[in-house]
Amino acid sequence: MSADPAPYAGAVTSEEFLDLLESELGPHGFTPSTALPLLSVCRDELMADLRRDVRRRWGHFFDVASLGGLPLLGRTGIRAALGHAPLDGVRHRLVVLALPHVGLEGGVVGSVSRPGVPGTTSACGALVEARRALEAGVSGVVVDRHDVEESMLVNRLHDVVGTGTVPGLVEVTEIVRRIAVDELRLLVRGLSSPEAPVDVALVSGVVVHATGADLVADIGFELLEPDA
Ligand SMILES: [Zn+2]
Repeated sequence: MSADPAPYAGAVTSEEFLDLLESELGPHGFTPSTALPLLSVCRDELMADLRRDVRRRWGHFFDVASLGGLPLLGRTGIRAALGHAPLDGVRHRLVVLALPHVGLEGGVVGSVSRPGVPGTTSACGALVEARRALEAGVSGVVVDRHDVEESMLVNRLHDVVGTGTVPGLVEVTEIVRRIAVDELRLLVRGLSSPEAPVDVALVSGVVVHATGADLVADIGFELLEPDA
């Protein structure tokens, strides 16, 4: 954990983020009745409020969760999600949300308090552990069948940061956001055909657990044209 003078400036509340989602995507035909949401967030119970809010605004979502918010559903998972998406004429729509998270309790990056737990804890703990593994020189090339998600997280981070100095948690979280977006973009490629077009809205950001409120920072929107 490290102190940072003003990380995540410009972050908005979860409600503002969800308002933005509707105002940005609605004009492009993505609404709760025309699109299936896919949610790629960490397993951490700290994400429960955002999960609830996404469900309240968009209905049931396809869960893409794994430790750290890395999407590990693969081609099989994304095809399953597509099969559950509403059909609008010949068209399917997916709203894909990739939102890794970070604690910011008292302004300290990586720190968060939890009910009944003494002191402060790490968030995202999976990313903190992955940083630790990389700092200890773990190569990241081995997938541990009894620690699949964390070892994949280390694996994918190692692809980006390599060996040597490991970036701080703010940068590692941003790297994971980009890895998640790249993976999801790759998975949705090829879903579409001229006879059955698939529109995809790829939305990403970082959920910041600030003192007393969850915020969303570094929000990015991307509309993927149907392959054809
Ligand atoms: Zn986490």
